[in-house]
Amino acid sequence: MFDLAVQYEGVINFGIGEPHLHTDRMIADRAYRDSLLGHTHYTANAGDPELRRALAEKLRRENGIDADPRGEIVVTTGAMEALYLAILCITDPGDEVLVADPGWVNYSNQISLTGVTPVPVPVTQETGFVLQPADLEQRCTPRTRAVILNTPANPTGTVYSREELDAIGVFARSRDLMVICDEVYERLLYGDARHHSLAANTDYSDRCITIFSFSKAYAMCGWRVGYAVGPEEIIRQMTKVHENVSACAPSISQRAAIHALQDDRFTRNMLDVYSVNRKLVVETLREIPGVTCVEPRGTFYAFPAIDLDAVAGLRAGKSVGGTAGASADASTDTAGGKAGGPHRTSRELALEILHRERLVTVPGSAFGARGEGYLRLSFASQTEVVEEGLQRLRRCLMG
Ligand code: PLP
Repeated sequence: MFDLAVQYEGVINFGIGEPHLHTDRMIADRAYRDSLLGHTHYTANAGDPELRRALAEKLRRENGIDADPRGEIVVTTGAMEALYLAILCITDPGDEVLVADPGWVNYSNQISLTGVTPVPVPVTQETGFVLQPADLEQRCTPRTRAVILNTPANPTGTVYSREELDAIGVFARSRDLMVICDEVYERLLYGDARHHSLAANTDYSDRCITIFSFSKAYAMCGWRVGYAVGPEEIIRQMTKVHENVSACAPSISQRAAIHALQDDRFTRNMLDVYSVNRKLVVETLREIPGVTCVEPRGTFYAFPAIDLDAVAGLRAGKSVGGTAGASADASTDTAGGKAGGPHRTSRELALEILHRERLVTVPGSAFGARGEGYLRLSFASQTEVVEEGLQRLRRCLMG
């Protein structure tokens, strides 16, 4: 979608998976100062000891997770590296790992890269896209080693309650599985939503590897700092692999992370904007016939279901009155979709939205077979941009 969008001027991007803001000046300035003071060398493989101490404190205070900074935390090059190391260190080729479908696409890719089989477990709009223990159980085999649990979840915005987490903990314990908890959106919450970590419950903490990141909450995607916390033996193995593939996370970025942890005003201000955007997105989507949208309680994504037949009918009705019809641009689909509808897939719809309205969205099918029929819309932008993008979307869907 991004490649196709390059041909147009004035594109609005609802496809982006990062905050629209640059990293806070305070963080960048202090990291720069630290670089002049000599923080330009390799750090300890597991991460700058000062950062690990600060993380242990944060984990205890905010997540209810007790972790020894000397052996139970490893700082990685983004959460992505931590996820990959976790999968690599707890599986053997031929094993299976359970993942939500729809779910963040990189899980399945990373699992496959290690010679392990990703096993999709459907999550549905009806149950708020929460993984159900019965569905997990049904797909569990003697080769299953782990389940990936993402809260708040990309692309659905689902935030798991304590009870929902515990139910997965009970299932994991009954099948002796590890749980890889991806909590990179922990601070991006709306309304009365609260973030909970399964690892805070000591009944399950011995089987959790919990992964966090500085990317989303602090607009620090490019600095590449994430971290994993879990049982010492597993973190030791992850650190060994980490040492061999990247030595350490970038030293200056680790300094930036220390400074970021000292002040959450930046995140709060950003969330004020995204709260307004979220409301706008949900309200607008719900006014469009054929569109249903579960309110995202976390992240900065909405994941509406688009009834493609209803949308086609609406537009056909409009075009009888002469108000609709594919524009010249929309009739050329360089990626093989059917511009101008009716659409058979969310990909075709996303392509038309791009060609016709210069709006980038992500087809739900990018997140697994069960994502078909959905679009992911990122509202991590200025409110005026989100307003304009929604107008374009509405125009395109309503004909
Ligand atoms: N996990 C999820 C669910 C994500 O959406 C992303 C980024 O989009 C990541 C992990 C990667 O985070 P990082 O930038 O720390 O590698």
